[in-house]
Amino acid sequence: MALSLVNLDKIKHMKLQHLLLGCFIGLAFTACETVAQQPTGAPFEQSDLPYAFNALEPHIDAQTMEIHYTRHHKAYINNLNKALREAGDTLTPLLDIMARVSTYSTAVRNNGGGHYNHDLFWSVLSPDASEPSEELLTAINEQLGGMDEMKSALSKAGATRFGSGWAWLIVNAEGKLAITSTPNQDNPLMDVAEDRGTPIFGIDVWEHAYYLKYQNKRGDYLDAIWNVVNWEEVSRRYAEAMGADS
Ligand code: MN
Repeated sequence: MALSLVNLDKIKHMKLQHLLLGCFIGLAFTACETVAQQPTGAPFEQSDLPYAFNALEPHIDAQTMEIHYTRHHKAYINNLNKALREAGDTLTPLLDIMARVSTYSTAVRNNGGGHYNHDLFWSVLSPDASEPSEELLTAINEQLGGMDEMKSALSKAGATRFGSGWAWLIVNAEGKLAITSTPNQDNPLMDVAEDRGTPIFGIDVWEHAYYLKYQNKRGDYLDAIWNVVNWEEVSRRYAEAMGADS
């Protein structure tokens, strides 16, 4: 039986449905092994929001959070799964898709980015006050001129992004912090991005992220968001991007 040949350590990290798909529809053992090594492909699922919809009030209102999470983010996931299913690709991990997104359809680019970006966005916000790690703070001071300069540059990147998109704090290939922005649901992990790197913080500047409360005043939303940054998570992502144990 093919299943018994698959490394058990790998199996325990997999979802049953992947095993069933990979091993019981007549694929050879080599295909099962491929499945076992890539357990994080479609169908992608939405993680729980780590706080209540109203937790970020008054800076981000509950109705915006609820619609944003349950409608917008959910739609990106559903559409991503549909596009990958239609393309016959349900095995490739999301980060691998981002890294060569130019070889995929526009639907995968838009909805794959939409899923990754929102997953990151929820995680880097929090109602609980926190501080950047010493390592991150030092890097911000040395490479971006300090916290105030960094915030102002990131807010400017968000304010000047024409139309819809994201503003990002990234770690680039040289291991340095940088600020950039991307259109639509693109992100700096994508092979199509102008400035590539690992995002450690991102701000959604689509109107759906702020319009109910702030209407046309994107700048006010960008000022307010600094009150709800989860610096602990941003610091964890910085350490991970720098290759440190976290
Ligand atoms: Mn959004």
